[in-house]
Amino acid sequence: MTCPECGADDCKSRFDECLALEFSDLRYGAVHNLTVCTYMLQHSSQLSREGWLYERDLLREFIVDGKSPSVVRQQVKDAVDSGKRAFKFKSADGQPIIRKTSWTKTILDVRLNDPEAYCADVAAWARSVLEEAQGLEA
Ligand SMILES: [Zn+2]
Repeated sequence: MTCPECGADDCKSRFDECLALEFSDLRYGAVHNLTVCTYMLQHSSQLSREGWLYERDLLREFIVDGKSPSVVRQQVKDAVDSGKRAFKFKSADGQPIIRKTSWTKTILDVRLNDPEAYCADVAAWARSVLEEAQGLEA
């Protein structure tokens, strides 16, 4: 089944496979933050508009600003605690926020057999998606 949002075949099974690897092996888990953020950006029907924009900012902080997941987690926690993040994160109606349906890279470009290749591929996928998402109106 071709995914209407990222254009890959059965991306959800691959995503689940990736998460299973990341939770069971720390070498894979090193890029967990990128995997989730990038996958969510490509599947905007799961998010509210604010949620999508938030994920895009988050990915930019990871990739462009080089922030570590723990620093970002603390920022998120502070924002939530202070009531700054008052918006709903999840989509209310399941409609895609963006109309893009074909991407240069998808989760299918990520090799699973070796942790080093896996981390490099996730990073390349994340960079490519961020680049393409930057130009989109949400
Ligand atoms: Zn997909």
